[in-house]
Amino acid sequence: EAKDADVDRWVKGTCRFCGTGCGVYVGVKNDKVVAIKGNPEAKTNFGFLCVKGFLAYKVMYHPDRLKYPMIRQSDGKFKRVSWDEALNYVTEKFKYFHQKYGKDSVAYYGSGQALTEETYTFNKLWKAGFRSNMVEGNPRLCMASAVAGYITTYGSDEPIGSYSDIEHAKCFFIVGSNTSEAHPIIFRRIMRRKMSNPDVKVIVCEPRKTNTSKIADLWLPVDPGTDLAVFHCIAREIIKNGWHDKQFIDEHTRITDGEKVYDFNHYVQFLEQFTPEAVEKITRCPAENIKKAAEWFAKHGPTMSLWCMGLNQRTRGVWANNLVHNLHLITGQIGYPGAEPFSLTGQPNACGGVRETGALCHLLPGTKPVADPKWRAHCEKEWGVPEGTIDPKPGFHTVKMFESLGAENDTTKPIKAMLVCTTNPAQSLPNAHKYIKNMKDAFLVVLDIFPTRTTQLADVILPAAFIYEKGGVFGCSERRSQHTDKAVNPPGEAKPDIWIAAQIAKRMGLEKLIPWNMDDPQKANALAWADYTRVTKDTDHSFAGVSYDRLKNEKAGVQWPCPYPDHPGTVRRYVRGLDPMFEHKGFLEKFGKVIPADKKIYFYMDAKNEGRANIFLRPYKPAAENPDQEYPFFLTTGRVIEHWHTSTMTMRIPEISRAQPYSFVEIHPEDAKKYGITNGDMVEVASRRGKVVLPAVITQKSLPGILFIPMHDQHIDRMINFVCNDAVDPGSFEPEYKVAAVKIRKVSGP
Ligand code: SF4
Repeated sequence: EAKDADVDRWVKGTCRFCGTGCGVYVGVKNDKVVAIKGNPEAKTNFGFLCVKGFLAYKVMYHPDRLKYPMIRQSDGKFKRVSWDEALNYVTEKFKYFHQKYGKDSVAYYGSGQALTEETYTFNKLWKAGFRSNMVEGNPRLCMASAVAGYITTYGSDEPIGSYSDIEHAKCFFIVGSNTSEAHPIIFRRIMRRKMSNPDVKVIVCEPRKTNTSKIADLWLPVDPGTDLAVFHCIAREIIKNGWHDKQFIDEHTRITDGEKVYDFNHYVQFLEQFTPEAVEKITRCPAENIKKAAEWFAKHGPTMSLWCMGLNQRTRGVWANNLVHNLHLITGQIGYPGAEPFSLTGQPNACGGVRETGALCHLLPGTKPVADPKWRAHCEKEWGVPEGTIDPKPGFHTVKMFESLGAENDTTKPIKAMLVCTTNPAQSLPNAHKYIKNMKDAFLVVLDIFPTRTTQLADVILPAAFIYEKGGVFGCSERRSQHTDKAVNPPGEAKPDIWIAAQIAKRMGLEKLIPWNMDDPQKANALAWADYTRVTKDTDHSFAGVSYDRLKNEKAGVQWPCPYPDHPGTVRRYVRGLDPMFEHKGFLEKFGKVIPADKKIYFYMDAKNEGRANIFLRPYKPAAENPDQEYPFFLTTGRVIEHWHTSTMTMRIPEISRAQPYSFVEIHPEDAKKYGITNGDMVEVASRRGKVVLPAVITQKSLPGILFIPMHDQHIDRMINFVCNDAVDPGSFEPEYKVAAVKIRKVSGP
């Protein structure tokens, strides 16, 4: 770690990678970032960092950095142009498409890696300026099921408590999350909690015995996509043994299938089909393990559930989320320290930037639906645009958006152009072949810091600034927004996204709507933040008490809701008397919410729910695609600790690329023997959509019949999203990356 003497100054910031939101200090010497260290005052990480956060600065000075705007020429090659030339070209094309094909012919596809101020600006420009809801972002691919899970259960998105619940929990229920590799600093906190208190139990429910499972007291192995049955079975065991909290259920919940309301006995009868023995047959999870998990969940609490993509990236992701919430609601383990259903996030600003600013096709700022006429009218008034400006109809969700993208002369493709900001859909979309063609055919503008699989398809490339070259706000998984100060200038002519958004607005005649067209990104960011927090001040996501100056000065950021300037932010929601929104004048009336007069906990549900959370009756449904004779294996995908997402950044950090240079396929020894495969053999893994060729790693981590492949590799022969399924959850429209049926074939020996 760099010492003070090694740098000229340390600049406060946030890690660029996962959604943990680790606080950092960025070390600058001779106007160059030369080191990163953990911020000991940050409440997310207390000074600790994983390898990615520690080495992130090496990304900034890689020779591949995009430094100049470029336009593709008729010979297919890119030519360096000025910003004026690039932006004029882009906006003339946008105007042309708008005029000829209508307002929805130009789409925006953003990212949980852009700043809150930037995403808010693009969202406002599209929805109020272009009057189009063709706004999506990569959080649709990772968090949409969690959003729908929270909203359908409690009436409000995002976790109830905070990471600090880790230090209070006595039982951890980790499902669909390899926390040790995807969120190493959160895992460190769990490990410390367990080491400091031998009585703490850890249950892990996962198809693989991951590094996370190594500290588990109990592993619930399941076939991919089958865990819904396990959750119902745990609920059944809890109720059968009388471990449920009857008073909490009576006072604070209602039982529903999403349509009708039922009594508790109906729920008990519904659960009867999920006996441990029946569920063992569906899932391969031993009945005894499920019974033990039920006992620990209910009796060894407070219990903290943590989950991530293993639950979300499924065609029944929303239901899986609902069923984990059910376990907390039937045991009343909610709203006090350590009792917490906590969904982890993959990107540094998926929560703050996309969920909270409503930068998805069906949302407006404050995570309120575009279909809500009151909220549309509110946004129109705040944004100073005429009544009826915002389209009440949602745009297309991500998969549909890329399906609908194509060449101008293709009458089946209504979207003709797209602006892609800080993300790499040509690699990250499932069934990628299909969408790569559409991106190639359409007019594609890509803003990024590096060449990627997506910039290869672009008509225009716009070079972007890295977070430490512009500064701004990231909001992490625990509702905490933190400000990063600008440390150095971007290389070449690279620019902050907010400048690019404002320049597009100006050229489209919408300067009045985005009045922060200025060279200083920090001034522009401050104006965008003020605009955003004013629009959302009366919502459950309120940051009205957090001026930009306050956020800059806070050492560890602020957690929403924070509706007053002297409010410290909210560590835990749904605690009567502690939730600031109870006292916020006008909030309850404005959104038709009620607090049951004599109740301890209030959920943000509509009046018809009487402030009660929903316990859902969700039928068991397997994944969209399951093994059969032709494709006899389950494939599941995930992360390794070294890499992040499509590895466009981490693969350019030498220490990391040396440690993990390429992907692999994990195969159980029994399966390997059947196919004559040994360690290191090259194996073709094929689904109905595509194939990859990877070296085999023979391991007992998964059950026989299940293969695992990391998701990061960019190489054209190893890009796993050629194989993954693009079937989506009907409630969240999130694709099923986590389950596919595949076959294997040994290609060659080592
Ligand atoms: Fe960055 Fe996540 Fe690692 Fe923290 S855990 S240093 S936020 S990548």
